[in-house]
Amino acid sequence: MKADGTDARVHLSFAPVKSATINGELVVVTDLTARNQGRNALVHAATHDPLTGLPTRTEFHRQVSRMLEVHPGRPLALLFVDLDGFKLVNDTAGHVAGDVLLAATADRLNRSLRDTDLLARMGGDEFAIACTGATLDDVLEVARRIAESMKQPLLVNERQHFLTASIGIAVSDATSTCEGMLIEADLAMLAAKAAGRGTAAVFDQKLRSTVAKRAAIEHDLHVAIARREFELYYQPIVGLNNKAVHFEALLRWNHPTRGVLAPAEFLSVAEEAGLIVPIGSWVLREAAACSVRLNRSHPGTRVAFNLATQQLTGALIAEVEAVLAETGAEPHHLIAEVTESGLTTKEAGLVTRRLQQMGLAISIDDFGTGHSSLGRLRELDVDALKLDRCFVNELGSRHGRRMIAAIIQLARAVDLPVVVEGVETTEQLTLLRELDCDYVQGYLFARPMPETHVADWFSRMFVGGFAGRTGG
Ligand code: C2E
Ligand code: CA
Ligand code: CA
Repeated sequence: MKADGTDARVHLSFAPVKSATINGELVVVTDLTARNQGRNALVHAATHDPLTGLPTRTEFHRQVSRMLEVHPGRPLALLFVDLDGFKLVNDTAGHVAGDVLLAATADRLNRSLRDTDLLARMGGDEFAIACTGATLDDVLEVARRIAESMKQPLLVNERQHFLTASIGIAVSDATSTCEGMLIEADLAMLAAKAAGRGTAAVFDQKLRSTVAKRAAIEHDLHVAIARREFELYYQPIVGLNNKAVHFEALLRWNHPTRGVLAPAEFLSVAEEAGLIVPIGSWVLREAAACSVRLNRSHPGTRVAFNLATQQLTGALIAEVEAVLAETGAEPHHLIAEVTESGLTTKEAGLVTRRLQQMGLAISIDDFGTGHSSLGRLRELDVDALKLDRCFVNELGSRHGRRMIAAIIQLARAVDLPVVVEGVETTEQLTLLRELDCDYVQGYLFARPMPETHVADWFSRMFVGGFAGRTGG
């Protein structure tokens, strides 16, 4: 006990002292308080994040591994928390503001926890929480409290910031390791993000197989071009008034074990893996070469191809020039289909303008799905408008028919031909004729087919009566 009444940690050393007058021991008492404080501060600095004061990834790992080791059967849940859109805030509002937001988030997370929970900063805008002795209901409650705490805006530099967090949850079993649970919670977090921001998802085995499948697809995609596994299928676009027939090139992947895959099964993976641009280049070259072949047998046939948003950069111009030179394709036999959302940047606008100057037509794909506005029709300055498939279902109602009629009329006013996609029945076709639609595309005429089937389709179409099919 020290003079002030507090306990002290001391170090004692003894040394025998012998002299003529003394025969005893010298006891040296060293007060360790100050030295321990210094050492503790050093340990703390090494195991905690300076910005938020929270344990680091390594420290979290150490503590959770120990919990699993000491209490093997005791339930433990990990939450992996990732802020949504934080990078954007950091890039636009500045790193200082970003740091303030991270510290504030750490504080919010802390206040959402139970006393026994462990919160750590894993790096960047990622946090992890370990809940010992918690049931799934308990952790879902923690996740709910976190979501609730994030609802209030954070004020930094007089600007309000609304942040949400995506949360992945993993629950331990008898064989769990910290590393394994973190991977599971991370995968669940990615699933939560994909399902819409600000939500939580719990890891299960189904998720593991989905993730594994995506990883396998990405792996196989890397070699698919070199192995010539891609193929373009062609679907006719039929003119109701001018009897013209064009084709849209649609990508298929002849996968060595999974069979023929449609874009829905691999395009998003290709986008994330940064492979959409090289795949798009292959599509462009192939569609141009096909337009040359089709025009030999059916002069005037145009081939439409889809352009991903990522392709709409200056590099595309040189590429199209090279492809035209190599294949001998006529630019006016090619139609580039782009979505409206792909045209929001200035560069994309300049690129499509240049393509038009070169002689290609630009068609707006999936019109009516995104933030399309009829007011922008003139501004967009394109050559055709493709109404998304969802409009065909609207043909059943009077309101829907009036809406489609209005779009067609407005488009006509600015000289834009309208293509309606997804036409499957003769009733739909009849209604579209009445509405004075210019072009139709859909299973009623043909499903997308390999190029080798196109000649056959043409002959059946004309022998069988083109007029009969189109109702004209
Ligand atoms: P999209 O450009 O809107 O293409 C039309 C899609 O609707 C095609 O699906 C086509 O097979 C389907 N479809 C056509 N008629 C009907 C019908 O009557 N009923 C129904 N239910 N569906 C019909 P697909 O071939 O699976 O392609 C899906 C999407 O993948 C395309 O939508 C396009 O956005 C994208 N895509 C296809 N090929 C390429 C490509 O080469 N590059 C890029 N970037 N995207 C592509
Ligand atoms: Ca399209
Ligand atoms: Ca479309």
